[in-house]
Amino acid sequence: MTENAKRVAVVTGASRGIGRSIAQRLAKDGRHVVLVARTESALNDVKHGIEANGGSASVLAADIADPKAFASAIEKIAETHGRLDILVNNAGITKDGLALRMSDEDWNAVIGTNLTSAFVAIRAAARAMMKGKFGRIVNISSTSGVVGNAGQANYAAAKSGLMGLSKSIARELGGKNITCNVVAPGYIETDMTQNLPQQVKDHVMGMIAVKRFGTGEDIAAAVSYATSDEAGFFTGQTIVVDGGMTMA
Ligand code: NDP
Repeated sequence: MTENAKRVAVVTGASRGIGRSIAQRLAKDGRHVVLVARTESALNDVKHGIEANGGSASVLAADIADPKAFASAIEKIAETHGRLDILVNNAGITKDGLALRMSDEDWNAVIGTNLTSAFVAIRAAARAMMKGKFGRIVNISSTSGVVGNAGQANYAAAKSGLMGLSKSIARELGGKNITCNVVAPGYIETDMTQNLPQQVKDHVMGMIAVKRFGTGEDIAAAVSYATSDEAGFFTGQTIVVDGGMTMA
């Protein structure tokens, strides 16, 4: 593939954590990566890092919890580049609490940011993917969505919802050479997990077969495969990358 025909990949939540690692990996794989999150300065830092390593990236600040604005952002990316080949819905939030005490606000915020945003992005990106006769969609879920987690009813519902969404999209768009899969990380060391009590971290470590916490690179490696040209026969699946924590 020539430089001009680089595949264009959108990665949400690319300003830090797992999303940053995914963006860096896809750039290394030769993609032009469009970095999406709310904090433009952090996105610019990631872009400069990618470029310093010989990769290609651009920045688009957007709030994925605002469906109209996010859909327009995705459409704008496809229009600007004349294509959109890869979509990684990675951005996510937690608002933990026991279900009986959980507010409607915390439920809706987590469902909106973690699940509805993925649907909105896929719907907005599908036209360009169909036009290009190629699409690779990856939704970042969580082991909480696979096996559930006390205190995370909203988050687990959203992350589990991504699996149903992905299987349905895989069935709807498979005939157009568009695949849709899920990568479900276990415990990964990022801003999202750093403030968990030490007791919780010790408990989790006890359940991890490989006896270490995961890194963004561990997740990026799975995303790299699922978004590759050669993964055309791989769709509707969930890859759990958790060091053997759940083995569900
Ligand atoms: P971080 O909290 O470290 O990063 C979250 C990213 O999402 C940031 O780039 C943030 O950027 C972006 N983001 C959050 N809300 C919005 C929004 N409304 N609009 C646009 N961007 C937004 O999270 P992780 O890297 O740890 O997690 C990434 C994904 O992996 C999430 O979906 C998470 O649920 C999942 N996951 C993480 C695990 C872990 O152990 N860390 C385990 C299992 C799953 P900004 O604030 O600038 O908008």
